[in-house]
Amino acid sequence: MTPLIRLENLTVAYNRHPAVHHVSGAFASGSLTAIAGPNGAGKSTLLKAIMGELRPAEGRVEHRLGRAEFGYLPQAAEIDRRFPISVIDTVMLGAWKKTGAFGRIAPAEVKRAGEALSAVGLEGFGRRHVGSLSAGQFQRVLFARLLLQDAGIILLDEPFTAIDARTTRDLIDIVTRWHGEGRTVIAVLHDFELVRTHFPQTLLLARELVGWGATADVMSSPNLLKARAMAERWDEDAAACDPEQAPAA
Ligand code: ADP
Ligand code: MG
Repeated sequence: MTPLIRLENLTVAYNRHPAVHHVSGAFASGSLTAIAGPNGAGKSTLLKAIMGELRPAEGRVEHRLGRAEFGYLPQAAEIDRRFPISVIDTVMLGAWKKTGAFGRIAPAEVKRAGEALSAVGLEGFGRRHVGSLSAGQFQRVLFARLLLQDAGIILLDEPFTAIDARTTRDLIDIVTRWHGEGRTVIAVLHDFELVRTHFPQTLLLARELVGWGATADVMSSPNLLKARAMAERWDEDAAACDPEQAPAA
């Protein structure tokens, strides 16, 4: 395998509390990897560290990619949809790498944006305000933006959480197509069934690495139990360390 991104003893911390701890391994070029793990396992943190949005407290992320080479879909909770912007303009943001932030948008790009909307089943939605869309429709818009961006590596943070089944199926098809085109795709997922059916590789995280490799091996019952036990231990730690939770003296 050709490693595209290598993690070397990676630790990422917030206020000195590690959210990702001593993770080592590599994503092969062209691989399709699910990141699974309990809430608070550091999955979103890991994606941000891979892109270089967060700096390691220890260890390294090694790759030769610029930020613009990553297509990124943030977790829904991090996106503000009240921002007054149309569907087509949201999709066009995917073209900024070519146009520059303030550059003139070529008619060819506008055409491609329209094609991207058709590809996600939203033909004719261009002038709608994003705030007027359902969660599933909005997720389709964000996938259209990724299609326009045409990045070689795509990071998706819980792309199918709270999304209807039909949309999930359609968007999974796009992920599968990206994989077929040789792009490297890394997606945080909660639905183990989706992971097992569509993702050949899995990275199971519970702040520390529980397993990373072929999905059938990594998503074993012992590993899932181990991940859960590790998460329960943080909860106990939180109760013991959090001054708000401590009994009054
Ligand atoms: P996951 O995506 O697996 O649910 P996160 O990466 O979002 O986990 O968070 C991992 C841990 O880091 C959690 O304990 C979370 O509360 C903490 N955390 C995440 N973002 C921040 C932040 N900006 N500041 C402080 N702590 C954070
Ligand atoms: Mg997250």
